[in-house]
Amino acid sequence: MSPSSYEHELIVLNPATEEVVATVPAATAADVDAAVARAAKAQAKWAALAPADRARLLRRFADVVDQHVEELARLEVREAGHLLGNARWEAGNVRDLLAYAAGGVERLSGRQIPVPGGLDVTILEPLGVVGVIAPWNFPMPIAAWGTAPALAAGNAVVLKPAETTPLTALRLAELALEAGLPDGLFQVLPGHGPVAGTALVEHPGVAKIVFTGSTGTGRAVMEGCARQVKPVTLELGGKSPNIVFADADLRTAVDPFSFLDNSGQDCCARTRILVQEPVYDEVRELLADAVNAVVVGDPADEKTQMGPLISRRQLERVRALVPADAPGLRGSAPDGPGFWFAPTVLTGEAPDSEAAREEIFGPVAVLLPFTDEEDAIRLANDTPYGLSGSLWTRDLGRALRVSRAVKAGNLSVNSHSSVRYWTPFGGYKQSGLGRELGPDALTAFTETKNVFISTEGPAQ
Ligand code: NAD
Repeated sequence: MSPSSYEHELIVLNPATEEVVATVPAATAADVDAAVARAAKAQAKWAALAPADRARLLRRFADVVDQHVEELARLEVREAGHLLGNARWEAGNVRDLLAYAAGGVERLSGRQIPVPGGLDVTILEPLGVVGVIAPWNFPMPIAAWGTAPALAAGNAVVLKPAETTPLTALRLAELALEAGLPDGLFQVLPGHGPVAGTALVEHPGVAKIVFTGSTGTGRAVMEGCARQVKPVTLELGGKSPNIVFADADLRTAVDPFSFLDNSGQDCCARTRILVQEPVYDEVRELLADAVNAVVVGDPADEKTQMGPLISRRQLERVRALVPADAPGLRGSAPDGPGFWFAPTVLTGEAPDSEAAREEIFGPVAVLLPFTDEEDAIRLANDTPYGLSGSLWTRDLGRALRVSRAVKAGNLSVNSHSSVRYWTPFGGYKQSGLGRELGPDALTAFTETKNVFISTEGPAQ
């Protein structure tokens, strides 16, 4: 790739074959200017529509996405290497998010607050144009996490997908037009982060940024927003624990897909397996068998359980953090073209090593023993992150104590689930700022205006 092609286009590769899937023009700062101007015009008209009409159009958008789930899923398999079954779920998640957000349009109400001498009401007003910057690991759902509630609250959205995965986002923008959303209301601008992403962050016409990506980039985005005192939501990295107490149902607790799903490129991956000492050896054996049995290969084959990493860059990053001779349990992965890394559980890491504390974002977990509840909580909190986590025990009191003590935004007890579009999601510490999804999702895309109306009449 020549430097000029780097600047002007994005080359989308199939991560399982390294074949070129598409070449897409990369947006410039001038393209961002034009998109924001169009979005502002569309937003004024959109916000003036009756709530029922906005809700109906969003439901229609959901229906059109539903009619294209298979097409979107197959596109995601090609551009991101996702398993076909997962990609179908992801497209369905966009549909469900749109339908859920549509249900909020007519329920987005302010409050009436008792005051002397008049009536006090709050009005929730849309922000205007919202910039959504998405990562490559879940291109469709994460784009929709910001877009659906922002539109429902009366805003326009300019979405910048990640460099490696612009195709499903572009298709969603076409489907929005097909569903009848006003032209310019939801625009997708593929581009390079430091060019199009920065332009969106710095644009005075963009009222809020919703950023999902790495903690390092999130910090830079927050600095850019700070210069204009622009609100920002950050969904960043994770290094989430899976805390297994000795009384747990070990066969359910030790699920390798809690860290291998999406080839480990999941901000909620349970990559720190913390195991109480009496069952450590048993868990180690269970994991060795489980990791060995994982079928890694062509993501379009329905029998495959794990696909490739997204890119050569990501593969090299994972290799640098996980040397081939590091002690551990390993499965297998294909050779040849494609960005493959075998499922791995590192068994010789110290709790303060880089691999045990930093996000690797590949199919790699570390196995660490703990002594008692206090030790488990200390280890669980011993990272800069605080996004998710699981804990496994049959003791209800302990489950509640540990849930309260672990500093993370999304915990599961006796389960590995973490993200539902109707429950709030977000991180503590360096995993982020603000919450997305859930019943309050629309409110995050509004300003609260307080209006006091005097009942005393004009002053004489
Ligand atoms: P990244 O930070 O490299 O990129 C994310 C997005 O930011 C991309 O669209 C990129 O083009 C853009 N960008 C890059 N530089 C920019 C800049 N200077 N200004 C504005 N935008 C810029 O992240 P990634 O590698 O695409 O994604 C992986 C990361 O995302 C992981 O750390 C993962 O944990 C995190 N993630 C977090 C969540 C969550 O909800 N907390 C969800 C998914 C992924």
